[in-house]
Amino acid sequence: MNAPAGGRSWAGPREAATLGIDIGGTKTLAALVGPDGTVLDRARADTPAAQGPDAVLRTAAELARRLGGTGPVGVGAAGVIDPATGAVRYATDSLPGWAGTAVADVLAERIGRTVVVENDVNAAALGETWAGAARGSAHVLLVAVGTGLGGGLVRGGRVEHGARGGAGELAHLPAPDADRLPCGCGRTGHLEGVASGTGLARAYRLRTGADVTGAEVAARSAAGDAAAAAVLATAGRALGRALAGLVALLDPQTVVLAGGAGQALLPHARDAYAAERLTLHADVTPVPAALGAAAVAVGAARAAMTHPGTHLPADPGPTDP
Ligand SMILES: [Zn+2]
Repeated sequence: MNAPAGGRSWAGPREAATLGIDIGGTKTLAALVGPDGTVLDRARADTPAAQGPDAVLRTAAELARRLGGTGPVGVGAAGVIDPATGAVRYATDSLPGWAGTAVADVLAERIGRTVVVENDVNAAALGETWAGAARGSAHVLLVAVGTGLGGGLVRGGRVEHGARGGAGELAHLPAPDADRLPCGCGRTGHLEGVASGTGLARAYRLRTGADVTGAEVAARSAAGDAAAAAVLATAGRALGRALAGLVALLDPQTVVLAGGAGQALLPHARDAYAAERLTLHADVTPVPAALGAAAVAVGAARAAMTHPGTHLPADPGPTDP
């Protein structure tokens, strides 16, 4: 960070920190994030998803009050977020009733602070770009393989939202290996049908009849289960091929693979990617995410810091020398 201008100095690490909140389907994590991306303090709670959006935002507000601080608050949440209003344009059922929720307005009213809302995977991409695996890169593609499959795109150091807030969404790319496999959108043949925790579990069940989670498939592969290894290889290959196409399209400096299933798929994805990428991109290799469970909260805090209209103590402002 630059030194504070105009003779001002930091009041202290906690006062200089920005609050980021990750509203997930099962957990809500709030983090006080320092001006260098360090997490100074954090608080967690179960997300009361079944009780609806109002209860979810009440929990987020309670965590914000617990950690305190001043200035704008960043939120990373599931769904396509309208970048202008901070409302949810589109969402799946991971948070029931979430679509249409005016997250920024409701939360701002509850806590009396400006709230900036970003899609959770976009926030993770911003966090990894700022303070994680893609630090120093301006153009970054982050792919998050968890239960589902998500993507976030950073262009010139800022999240690329697209026209509707939906840019970076790579789950629905056509993938030959996903032939006849259902995607979260209800169709078949999309990348998420094969390269996701849900896809791994389904493919393993089709091969063995065993009903286990995607994480368990990865664990069984590591323990020498040949069927699990084959499922991971197929999924990783599908992901790597898609990444090669995406890198050709987007020309990022860094590709980050996040999520538990993402780490299990990384070796296979790297091989398939390397076989298909252009020589132009020989120096672009998918790397594992570095911020772990805090990535969304850190990126949400960064979104709040850099949002137009946000003036933090560190910002010298237009009138300073
Ligand atoms: Zn789909």
